[in-house]
Amino acid sequence: MNPSHAKLAEAFNADEKRTDWHDQTLWFVRQKRDKAAHVLPEWEKLRQWASDIKDHTLSNLDVYLAEFEQKATANGVQVHWALDAADHNAIIHKIIRDQGLTRIVKSKSMLTEECHLNDYLQQSGIEVIDTDLGERIVQFRKEPPSHIVLPAIHLKKQDVSETFQEHLGTEAGNYDPQYLTQAARIHLREKFIQSELAITGVNFAVAETGGFVVCTNEGNADMGVHSAKIHIGCMGIEKIIPKAEHLGVFTRLLARSATGQPITTYTSHFHRPRPGQEMHIVIVDNGRTRQLGREDFRNSLKCIRCAACFNTCPVYRRSGGHSYHTAVAGPIGSILNPNLDMKANADLPFASTLCGSCTNVCPVKINIHEQLWKWRQVIAEEGLVAPSKKYSMKMMAFVLARPSLYRIAGSAGRWVMRNLSFLVKVKSLNPWYKQREMPDAPKESFRDWYKKNKEV
Ligand code: SF4
Repeated sequence: MNPSHAKLAEAFNADEKRTDWHDQTLWFVRQKRDKAAHVLPEWEKLRQWASDIKDHTLSNLDVYLAEFEQKATANGVQVHWALDAADHNAIIHKIIRDQGLTRIVKSKSMLTEECHLNDYLQQSGIEVIDTDLGERIVQFRKEPPSHIVLPAIHLKKQDVSETFQEHLGTEAGNYDPQYLTQAARIHLREKFIQSELAITGVNFAVAETGGFVVCTNEGNADMGVHSAKIHIGCMGIEKIIPKAEHLGVFTRLLARSATGQPITTYTSHFHRPRPGQEMHIVIVDNGRTRQLGREDFRNSLKCIRCAACFNTCPVYRRSGGHSYHTAVAGPIGSILNPNLDMKANADLPFASTLCGSCTNVCPVKINIHEQLWKWRQVIAEEGLVAPSKKYSMKMMAFVLARPSLYRIAGSAGRWVMRNLSFLVKVKSLNPWYKQREMPDAPKESFRDWYKKNKEV
């Protein structure tokens, strides 16, 4: 069983300076997003179109996936269907094994993280090289990514320098980002040239053409695919969109929402294998149809993984991605992961203030904070909340339903705060006090104050 989000967040918060820096860095990205969005007068229209296109697609998923398969197959692409993570990993392993390969390159794909593909292949003796710079850094450190767009955002350049010194032999104490990036570039170039198979994610798959689009800022997906004989694209079933003309709506929203750029540096379109190359696409369900069937959570499948909800979330910014103990962290991860394993991820929907900022920035208009609140209800109904929370909430409901008992409890609470205030300052009894000052207890209740002052 994973330690809870609260425990992991506490460990992250132990380094206060790093927590402040993480918070401010992501807020900077959020502000860049705001500037990039506000220069487009049609921003809200784009969000609505994106949401409507996804709504329509989710209602006709079977039709568009079948159309995509037919077009992709006609283009010479080999299409595979995977029911779950185990299926996805086995399909990829078989393609690699059939070619007798022992080393592959992979560009960023949150689906392969969700399926734990790296661990699976490495246990089978296959070396996997993550080629996105942030992903390579966390791979060296044997850590999962902490953010879906900025996988190493929890690390400072000093951490990267130490990691590269250990794995790439760079100079000790040289923190110059250009020097470090150049070292990574030389290292990765050699891996690209040596590899015969490249795996990429899929940002959008177009039913009408059977092609798919991969968005990166480093060009590593293209570099891997163009050097390799075999390209495998891995996509969740929700990545499908009906027509090529819909792409413009999503590509305009994606990079602006993610990093505040007008567009990703590379928006690569793949349609068919080059002569002499093999192209495969693995289409994965892994619980998505179950989520589609959950009326309250269906909309979460509209997600285009821009991470705007991460960057704005006060809880994510101050607790770090690893505190979510899942591949996709942040507000959207807290909606998607209970669907995959409700018991193991029952803590995640509670890792939110429900302030609604995530919903405000989401480019496809997912009602994120409402879904988090709904998950809390489902999790409570399933009996998966901690007994301390369950019984204290029951007691609270009992008191709140009885006005005279509520008044007695209120005056008892004020008396304790005034006369035995040391009790509420015991941090193990009152975690709220850990990082806050308790206010002085008022002399009277609001009700008494109001009675006295209502004529004034
Ligand atoms: S839920 Fe919305 S804001 Fe969050 S990653 Fe997905 S698309 Fe972006």
